[in-house]
Amino acid sequence: MTDPQRHATVVGAGLAGAALAHALVVRGWRVDLLDAADGPARGASALPVGMLSPHVTRAPTPLSRLTALGVAATRAELESWVPTGAGWQPCQVHNHGHDRGVWPAALVRPGALVQAWLTAAQATGRLTTRWNAPVARLARPDGSPAWQVQDATGRPWATSPVVAVTGAIGSLSLLTGAGITADWLPLRPVQGQMSLGALAGPPLAEGPQRDNGVFVPEYRDAGLPPAWPERIWSMGSTYERGTTHTDVRAEAHRRNLDSLRALHPAGAEAFERSMAMGQLLGWAQVRCASLDRLPLCGALPDPAALQAERARAERRRWRPGAADTPRLPGLFTLCALGSRGLTLSAWCAQRLAEQMDGAAVQADADLWTAIDPARFAWRQTRRAA
Ligand SMILES: Cc1cc2nc3c(=O)[nH]c(=O)nc-3n(C[C@H](O)[C@H](O)[C@H](O)COP(=O)(O)OP(=O)(O)OC[C@H]3O[C@@H](n4cnc5c(N)ncnc54)[C@H](O)[C@@H]3O)c2cc1C
Repeated sequence: MTDPQRHATVVGAGLAGAALAHALVVRGWRVDLLDAADGPARGASALPVGMLSPHVTRAPTPLSRLTALGVAATRAELESWVPTGAGWQPCQVHNHGHDRGVWPAALVRPGALVQAWLTAAQATGRLTTRWNAPVARLARPDGSPAWQVQDATGRPWATSPVVAVTGAIGSLSLLTGAGITADWLPLRPVQGQMSLGALAGPPLAEGPQRDNGVFVPEYRDAGLPPAWPERIWSMGSTYERGTTHTDVRAEAHRRNLDSLRALHPAGAEAFERSMAMGQLLGWAQVRCASLDRLPLCGALPDPAALQAERARAERRRWRPGAADTPRLPGLFTLCALGSRGLTLSAWCAQRLAEQMDGAAVQADADLWTAIDPARFAWRQTRRAA
């Protein structure tokens, strides 16, 4: 029988929520996974094909260190759970601009990994999923230690001592509704569109190329949307900060075409042919990015307790940090995966599951602090001091 305290509700079933649900179930937890959509991986994680690759810099940065760890973690998960060719394939990417050179990478359809994590977790009998379940509010009625995850009428979808919010940009309203100060959650939507086309003949280039966007000259996957061919090329994506629509637009196709002309002129000719024949495919969704472009991963700070702590420290210099930050009991998040959900979700979810479980987090302390969801609260508190 599972310890009743090791029971979490996870809100959002994209890469972040599925990775976390799986990591918790592996540790013996019981998990209720909810999503507003009619199934898993319906938001940004419905991406038809994405790139798993590191962010390489001359000197290490938190992002370059995270992506190096993240690529290895995701690759291990793919190798464990998803057959090659049925949702991912290894490749090399030729970077023309940033991180110039040829790097080991993989092409991945995130939905395949999400489904594989959920299937493996369900096989333990400890994962329950609930679709068409939009969460309006997180509450602890009458000082109860358990969180209620409520619908718009206040009825609980689920009740558990622990809640993890993994709803990408949808996390913002849930967390501010739970009392987190909005300034402490600088999350921004960044809409993106990719352009794709059927591939009948040989691949359009030797391998994937990247500069202003990624050109995939060939990707084969029977799990692509039913109306699409199994063999495609793709180019993208655009970046529209502050935009939340998911319409496929001709103007965004034109921007992808311009980027491809600069990157691979022969590929651009195939793009133009598809466009002229009205056969161009498109896919658009919304990323969730933080102000410093790092994910938010961990326990949420307690605003009232943090302010009280600051008031007590009024006359002495106080620089709050990870260890002495009061936290809201049982409330966690993994969001703001930006353009790197494939690279970051598995490693971050594994570390978050360790923290939720009260185990030692297997990460360098400075790296774990760099993605602490309390970091913007510390900055504001220091500025105000
Ligand atoms: C055009 C484009 C190209 C990209 N290319 C790449 C790439 O090449 N490589 C890469 O690594 N990443 C890429 N990404 C980014 C990647 O897709 C995301 O980082 C990743 O999918 C985010 O996963 P997530 O689980 O955080 O969010 P999502 O997959 O968006 O999942 C969030 C889920 O939460 C649910 N939700 C939100 N609010 C609520 C609520 N209140 N109640 C219930 N459910 C809720 C939503 O319905 C949704 O299903 C790309 C993204 C885009 C848009």
